Parts: sequence; structure tokens; C-alpha cells
Amino acid sequence: MQPTEDRYREILRKYWGFDDFRGIQREIIDSICSGRDTLGLMPTGGGKSLTFQVPALAMKGVCIVITPLIALMKDQVMHLRKHGIRAAAIYGSMMHNEIITTLENCIFGGIDLLYVSPERLSSELFQTKLKHMKVSFITVDEAHCISQWGYDFRPSYLKIADIRKLKPGVPVLALTATATPLVTDDIQEKLAFKEKNVFKMSFERKNLAYIVRRTADKQEEMIHILNSVSGSAIVYVRSRKRSKEISGLLNKCGISATFYNAGLEHVTRDSRQTEWQNDKVRVMVATNAFGMGIDKPDVRVVIHIDSPDSIEAYFQEAGRAGRDGNKAYAVLLYNNSDNGKLEKRINENFPEKDYIKKVYEHLAYYYQIGMGSGLGHKFEFNIDRFCYTFRHFPVQVDSSLKILAKAGYIEYEEDSDTKARVRF
Ligand code: ADP
Ligand code: MG
Repeated sequence: MQPTEDRYREILRKYWGFDDFRGIQREIIDSICSGRDTLGLMPTGGGKSLTFQVPALAMKGVCIVITPLIALMKDQVMHLRKHGIRAAAIYGSMMHNEIITTLENCIFGGIDLLYVSPERLSSELFQTKLKHMKVSFITVDEAHCISQWGYDFRPSYLKIADIRKLKPGVPVLALTATATPLVTDDIQEKLAFKEKNVFKMSFERKNLAYIVRRTADKQEEMIHILNSVSGSAIVYVRSRKRSKEISGLLNKCGISATFYNAGLEHVTRDSRQTEWQNDKVRVMVATNAFGMGIDKPDVRVVIHIDSPDSIEAYFQEAGRAGRDGNKAYAVLLYNNSDNGKLEKRINENFPEKDYIKKVYEHLAYYYQIGMGSGLGHKFEFNIDRFCYTFRHFPVQVDSSLKILAKAGYIEYEEDSDTKARVRF
């Protein structure tokens, strides 16, 4: 029997203390609870999490939640447990025994929500245990990661369709803030939806003012803005080096700031994010590595001192301001040299086909003659040396590697500024 209407609201009040659903939350919940594959499109901060968390409590069985980031997973599970909800996660750094115990808890009905990474889906242990599990439905968070047309493609998301085959009849709830037609069609196709079924909410953010400001001196303008708007802020920059520089500059001007980029150790990144999250530091100066899973409600301003790669990326990054619904600002600073820079970036990000092919051939050659250190099929090489031998620019090589990875020719893992790991 379907849980009744009021049951959902009861759950919402009991566990979260919220009065009512907002936007299209209710429609999405009704759709998934009636057993239909469902795609929910809601902007960042729109409240996607509740659309699977509430039905997970209302329905019998475990809701499997696939999310791309371990940090995000841990965060949500901790949050849910605080509310007295039986949630669990499995991730790589857990002990084997712990993983088994968690999966068995799911089989014996002790868990309502199980968070897993997409990579986990292909593990034999997981698949074996899954067979014995009563699954209410499968949630695919950040579902745009399944699409090559999206800006955050993860090949491992494609494995979700295989899992569906193991659990026929179990519906899928896909959620994302990326609403381009190409991506939404692709998500439904790649997830093997029985029929198309999309719910879309307005992406307008009424409390967020978007401002584009042309200025000869971006740094001065940035400082001016940060001195005029109080509260938590993010400044997005293009390079790791610049994140450090701008953060230094702000501190010199008496504005407390820290910086974040993919070149930093995980522990450093986590501690900086926490400091900022807890208002120990006011401004986070970051590259686009500071992204998914940031849920600070009271960010008052997001400044882009450099232009991002795409409108989609801009909307996501700017959208981190004002999640609490109070007035917030998204400011894009630009000057005359930005156009040229953007054009150059397009050329770097999308090298010619022949160029990509050459990179691949060189890579295979390196691998064959044993340059770099090979561990099994995983092969680590010094990217500077590779670029030097190859007489080309690291950015283009890097783009080529990413494109090759997207197309499934290689697996590519960026390690640090100088090293990369490739698996053929
Ligand atoms: P998304 O995943 O879409 O970016 P979240 O699920 O993280 O958004 O929700 C954003 C914020 O909105 C959270 O702080 C959440 O508690 C709040 N929220 C969601 N739904 C409701 C609701 N019905 N009533 C009040 N607050 C809500
Ligand atoms: Mg979310």
C-alpha cells in the first residue's frame, strides 16, 4: 500500500521540523512513491535532498543513494543521524568488516538510507549483498555526472544502469541542478528510464542579485565589494597560484581570508573548508575545485574575479550565495583582456583531434618503453617531462588527457602539479 499524503508531511515535521514542502518537492515525492522513474530538476539550494530522504523513511526497504563525493556523503549521513534517521555510508577507507556489517544491516532492515559512491556499484561484495536487500528506490544525486554533455562527467555513473538490471522493478530518482535539454534527455536514457518523467522547478533565485561589473582594477573592486557587503563570501579565481595571492592580498587589507585549490592536501582542504564553514574565516578564495557539496546557507556574496568556463559553471558557483533565502549578491568582474583570455582557454581546453591522437600515441609509447613508473596497469609519469619531450604546453596535454578519459580510452587521475597517473 502507498503511504498516505499526510504521512510525508508528518515525517517532514517529525524529523526536520519544517512546516511544509516547497517548490516541486511534493510532486517529486509523489512520483517516486508511485513507483515511477523520476527526474527532478531543482537549482542548487532548492531542496533536492528531502525529495529522497522523506520517501526513504516512508517506504519499506533501503534507499540506495549514489553521490559523487565522499565528503558530501559523510556530511549528509552525519546530519541525518543527528535527526535520528537510520542512515549509513560505505566508502573506500572503511575496514572490510565495517562494510560487511553495514551491508548486512541493510539486509536485516536496520537502515533506511545507504549512501554509496558510483565506483562501489561494481564491487562484487556490494552486488552480492544487494541481491538480498529490499530496496525501496535508487537515488542518483548530481545525476548530470552521468552525461558526457554535462560539465562533470564521471564514467562510473554509467554503471548505475547495470545495478538496475539486478533490481528490476525498483524505481530510480535522479536529481540535478543541470537542466539543459541535452543533459536531461541523456540522464533519462543512460539511467534506462521506463518512460520520460521530468519535474522542473523555476531556476530563478529571487534573493540573488546578479551583477556584472566592468573595471580596470578588479582587485580594488573586489576589496570595495567585500567592504560594502558584510558576511561570508567566496571569491572564485582561475588558478591555484592566484588563489594564494588574492587570499594574501585580502589578509593584508584586513579582510580575513583563506584559499582552496586541488593542489592542496586533502586534510588542508578539509580544515580550510571547516574554518570557513564555521565563520572562523570570512572569505574563501578558491578555484573551481571548491564546488559540489558546499552547503553554507549564509554566503552573502560570490565574486568571480576571473570568468568561469561556462554559463552552467557560473550558475552553480554564483548559486552558492544566499541559500538561506536572504539577500545575496553574485558579482562577475571583467575587463577588456577577458575576451582574449576566454578564447585562448577554449583553444586550450579543446585541442584539435590530431593533437589529442598524438598525445595518446606518445603516452602509449612512454608506457611501452617504461618511462615513468608503472605499477601494474597504473602508470605514473612526470607531466613536465612529458610536455618537454613532447614540446607542448601542459594545459593542452592536460585537456587532451581529460578528453581521452571522457571518451573512455584511458583513466586519468591528476595527482599534483607535476605528476599524473594514467591507466590504459
Ligand atoms: P540542494 O541539494 O537542492 O542543493 P538541499 O537539499 O541541500 O538543496 O537543501 C538546501 C536547504 O534547504 C537545506 O538547508 C534544507 O534544510 C532546506 N530545505 C529544503 N526543503 C525545505 C523545506 N521544505 N522547508 C524548509 N527548508 C527546506
Ligand atoms: Mg544536493
